[in-house]
Amino acid sequence: MKRIALVSTPWSLFSRPSIQLGTLKAYLGMQFPDLEVAAHHFYLKVAETIGYRLYQVISERTWLAETVYAALLFPERLEHIEKVFCKEASGNPLVRKADLKTLAAQVKKVSDVFIDSTDWGAFGLAGFSVCLCQLTSTFYFIKRIKRRFPDLTIVIGGSMFAGESTRNLFRVFPQVDFVVNGEGELPLSRLVRHLGDYQSHEEIPPIPGIVSQKAPSNDTPVSFSQMETLSNLPAPDYDDYFILLKTFNPHKTFFPTLSAEISRGCWWRRPQGAAKYSGCAFCNLNLQWNGYRSKNPLQVISEIDNLTTKHKILSVAFMDNLLPMKESEDIFAGLGKLSKDFSLFAEIRATTPKHILEAMQVAGTHEVQIGIEALSTRLLKKLNKGTTAIQNLEIMKHCEELGIANVSNLILHFPGSDLMDVEETLRNLEFALPFRPLRFVHFWLGLGSPVWKDPRAFGIKAVFNHPNYAAIFPPHVFSSMSFMIQAYRGELGLQKKIWQPVKKKVMAWEKGYAELHRGPLRTPILSFWDGRNFLIIRQKRVGAEPSTHRLVGTSRAIYLFCQRRRSLKRIMAHFHGIAEDRIVPFLRMMVDKKLMFEENKRYLSLAIPVKPTSRRPHTIRGKGQEKDKHPTSNFEWEKMKKQNMDSEGQGA
Ligand code: SF4
Repeated sequence: MKRIALVSTPWSLFSRPSIQLGTLKAYLGMQFPDLEVAAHHFYLKVAETIGYRLYQVISERTWLAETVYAALLFPERLEHIEKVFCKEASGNPLVRKADLKTLAAQVKKVSDVFIDSTDWGAFGLAGFSVCLCQLTSTFYFIKRIKRRFPDLTIVIGGSMFAGESTRNLFRVFPQVDFVVNGEGELPLSRLVRHLGDYQSHEEIPPIPGIVSQKAPSNDTPVSFSQMETLSNLPAPDYDDYFILLKTFNPHKTFFPTLSAEISRGCWWRRPQGAAKYSGCAFCNLNLQWNGYRSKNPLQVISEIDNLTTKHKILSVAFMDNLLPMKESEDIFAGLGKLSKDFSLFAEIRATTPKHILEAMQVAGTHEVQIGIEALSTRLLKKLNKGTTAIQNLEIMKHCEELGIANVSNLILHFPGSDLMDVEETLRNLEFALPFRPLRFVHFWLGLGSPVWKDPRAFGIKAVFNHPNYAAIFPPHVFSSMSFMIQAYRGELGLQKKIWQPVKKKVMAWEKGYAELHRGPLRTPILSFWDGRNFLIIRQKRVGAEPSTHRLVGTSRAIYLFCQRRRSLKRIMAHFHGIAEDRIVPFLRMMVDKKLMFEENKRYLSLAIPVKPTSRRPHTIRGKGQEKDKHPTSNFEWEKMKKQNMDSEGQGA
């Protein structure tokens, strides 16, 4: 075998090269130095054709995306497909204007030119990476290519095909010869070797991590075959993406974001009580991986340095499910020392300590997605998130302070959530208002997720393929396959009703946050100025003048001490000369004024410093430093009590 093709079809994000294609190309190139790997990031061409803005809107909405090529794959189903398209397009004027038939005709033209002008016969294999939004487009390409080149070996893989979803696939899409389950490097390289050694697919011996159409039984459980370590993985090869981008008119070129990976899998696997699952209850990302592996810091730093130098790009998005806790500080400290003005994005857990966030910020992290998901500890427990509301508020505050945009989600309608979860969320939302608003998302059921595996534990009566698939695919496909997006029966109406007030409050939060940040001085909503032995807190308010509060002496000291969450026990131990019945009323007053948050006798100050933390030497930062650096004095406390100056609330 001399040449193979790897293809990524619409609707991958157009502004990033496909990490799946880039990594596979680099790995296969290393394994087979004589093999030519053509990586077709074809989605970019479609984006250029229909316009980047329209492409982006479609690529961000699964159902919208799946309808376009569905209309080409199954024209006889146009009426049903159009209903899904119109429903999904209704909220967006840009898509509403581009009707489905016109859009489908546009993408058909550009797709067919690509398919017809490529000599697929020259390749020994064509591999398709299929992630969310790429299902119908991939099948369209495969069908069209296989019609012209029936002997071409077709392999598919990616997050849309893992475990259960591969069952019956060959029956409904006989054009597919092999499916890769999990990561592709090892299975695909073995397949390439075997295809060169054997005459027919029937002769190929079983390959771990590959399901073959010619395998005797479709019922054998699908296995993984993944690399033990990522340290031998070469840096992704994105040359094909940039070559394609260079062919565009100058007014259609742009600066892309480089996709990078530090790790694979997820290290958050704490088992949920007596239930038989671990990890977050709604998450099925781990269908593709076994365990967690991460690259060593030097490998990551040199990869990012080389890729950004080669492509002259500074924007990098880490595609990891979540970053490694131990190595992250070294990685970001190393990136920070490269003297490059990066713009980085990553997904992190809410338990990420502030010192790592600081290293991330110094390295150029402008945006993070944190696994917040809920602001109710009761609900977080049901989600098996392993975090609490106070932890979530703490990291939201740190992001606000460090100027890192936190684009995280609040999950509504989680099955099994109840009025008490909603009430707790509504209460805690009051304390989140000074921070960047969360986006509410409605829970969706993922194939293979813990909720899907044990639906009754979450009050779900039945699970089945999402009905939109029934509109898109013919009945025999719909009934044979298990799709990644599932639907369910059980208390859906109730969930919608009870979460309505939260939805309203989040919308008001968005509005208020935007309003309070209007104007040339984008000062924080809740901030403090430190006067060394007193502190002034400024609280901006919607439709009113800001209110200010002054904390003097020990009040100031306690407030600064709780810049990270502290238990009452810890506060008492730190301010040991002061009685509990004097500290607690102060903390309560701070909570009443929404200047602090309290949960389970833990306290968190919510105001952020107007000056970066590092410029305030008296601020308590780490263990061992606290006692010496903190000016605590009973005299000050007494004086303040006498003068009633603990906290002066003023509508200024
Ligand atoms: S949501 Fe994130 S932290 Fe939770 S199991 Fe999935 S990948 Fe892991």
